[in-house]
Amino acid sequence: MPVEGAPAMAAEDAGDRDIVEWFEAAAETAGAVQSQTLHRIVESNLGSEYLRRWLGGDLRVHDLSPAELESLFTSAVPLASHADLEPYIQRIAHGDASPVLTQQPITMLSLSSGTTDGRPKYVPFTRFSSQSTLQIFRLAAAYRSRVFPIRSGGRILEFIYSSKQFQTKGGLMAGTATTHYFASQEFETKQRTTKCFTCSPFEVISAGDYKQSTYCHLLFGLLFHNEVEFVASTFAYSIVQALTAFEDLWEELCEDIRQGTLSSNITLPTMRKAVLEHLMPNPSLASKIERDCEELRSSGWCGLIPHLWPNAKYIYSIMTGSMQPYLRKLRHYAGEVPLVCAEYGSTESWIGVNLEPLNPPERVAFTVIPTFSYFEFIPLYKQQKQDSSTLVTPDDFVEGQPVPLCKVSVGQQYEIVLTTFTGLYRYRLGDVVEVAGFYKGAPQLTFVCRRKLILTVNIDKNTERDLQLAVEKGSGLLSRTKAELVDFTSHADVAHHPGHYIIYWEIKGEVEEGVLRECCREMDAAFVDQGYVVSRKTSSIGPLELRIVETGTFRKIMEHFIGNGTAMSQFKTPRCTTNQVLLSILDCCTVKSFRSTAYAP
Ligand code: AMP
Repeated sequence: MPVEGAPAMAAEDAGDRDIVEWFEAAAETAGAVQSQTLHRIVESNLGSEYLRRWLGGDLRVHDLSPAELESLFTSAVPLASHADLEPYIQRIAHGDASPVLTQQPITMLSLSSGTTDGRPKYVPFTRFSSQSTLQIFRLAAAYRSRVFPIRSGGRILEFIYSSKQFQTKGGLMAGTATTHYFASQEFETKQRTTKCFTCSPFEVISAGDYKQSTYCHLLFGLLFHNEVEFVASTFAYSIVQALTAFEDLWEELCEDIRQGTLSSNITLPTMRKAVLEHLMPNPSLASKIERDCEELRSSGWCGLIPHLWPNAKYIYSIMTGSMQPYLRKLRHYAGEVPLVCAEYGSTESWIGVNLEPLNPPERVAFTVIPTFSYFEFIPLYKQQKQDSSTLVTPDDFVEGQPVPLCKVSVGQQYEIVLTTFTGLYRYRLGDVVEVAGFYKGAPQLTFVCRRKLILTVNIDKNTERDLQLAVEKGSGLLSRTKAELVDFTSHADVAHHPGHYIIYWEIKGEVEEGVLRECCREMDAAFVDQGYVVSRKTSSIGPLELRIVETGTFRKIMEHFIGNGTAMSQFKTPRCTTNQVLLSILDCCTVKSFRSTAYAP
């Protein structure tokens, strides 16, 4: 139920002050807080098989100062990848209730979306995971409300979705982290005590069918159109897909509002029942929305959000990293409504909070929260630096020795390493970040890319970020036309000689073939990695290929992932794939193909 009136608002504001004060104190002494955090993690899990293996069974944590323990821990426990920990996690999934990774048995496992490297991974999930989620949401909301005050008792049009929870062979509850959070006591507390309320009832969030849920989210958004204070989702992709769907659904939605009925496409009984309870005929609202939509349609749906939700103060979602390609479309729908970047985290742990909501997505940095995990940072250098303290890796980075949070340098890029309360020790997350500065003693990070090298044929090495830049350059030429890029992915074809890059585009609108040929040439020339440039010049890499896929191809890809257990809320289009199912979807849907000619970087 809505918390209404002044007393609730005062309580919320006091809550905002408390959480900000807590965070500012932690940030002030971030280095010391990190040592204490590690101390707490080790102390509470010292009896686990994993820590006993590396730290021995006789360690007396209380005899060591936090700084001494930090030094012992980082010298005795090795860096680990998910593959190193997988055998332990598998045992837990199969029902081994002994203290494998944590002292307290793990009873839930999260499925990280895996769409960035193609394979879902199990990660332990504990009460701490949902508590820290609630805490970071509250902290971020407190900073946002300083610059974007919102009305107590208002609504949030939130495109959020949980997928099904299921049992592993050993009887543990498994599902995505967002799904576990939506089912947690913490989420329930947030819904009960928050200043603003999600438009949709819980049955819509938890329905498990993203298309039906999207329809109902939109329906509730329209019913509460004057009360919506902001529009949100976990990743920006969900807002874009929902509003794109709206372009085709608005007439049906208006009919439902007019009649107080619900489309026969909404078939899930629990959701149907819950939605119908809120509906009653409202012809005047339906006519108003219809008039708005006629007007919006003629302007290509530009400024849809402020038109339909006139009191929306901002749009809040993860908009960085692999979400950046959707910004153009999001801005198109947003008009003048500001975009506010949501926090930085992963299924494994939350990492940083956005303290400056006014910064546009291109400039946002995330301040590390030093109590959530123990963070280390592996310095990454682009090939040039090689001495005894560095290690050459299979991608184009050279690694230095990991450093603690307080020793990072501004302007340097790092891979993040996590030691968590959920039993991951010195775990390489695979994300590359750059240190943009410090807030008090806590580093502020910009997200660069996933560490994993994505496009390579021979000596060339291109990351997700390199691909993104090339696609931005190529698709920039579409601005001359009425068409727009909907989504993209890529594949390095090494099955044919010479190997070459294939970039798949889905576009909306008509484009002349000459323009697409130019886009293809532009992308080929935009990869500046020397390995690529040299290989292209010597023809050991063939001309880049642009394949245009038919409308709806990327929706099919998303549905393939969702069918395999990914929650819509966590879905990210893989930017490069070797997955045979995806490749066959892409190949079946290819309608045109162009090869770059006249290579001129
Ligand atoms: P998952 O655990 O499947 O939800 O995905 C977590 C991954 O999403 C992280 O490791 C990042 O690569 C990416 N991610 C999460 N938050 C952000 C953010 N704010 N900006 C950029 N990428 C993000």
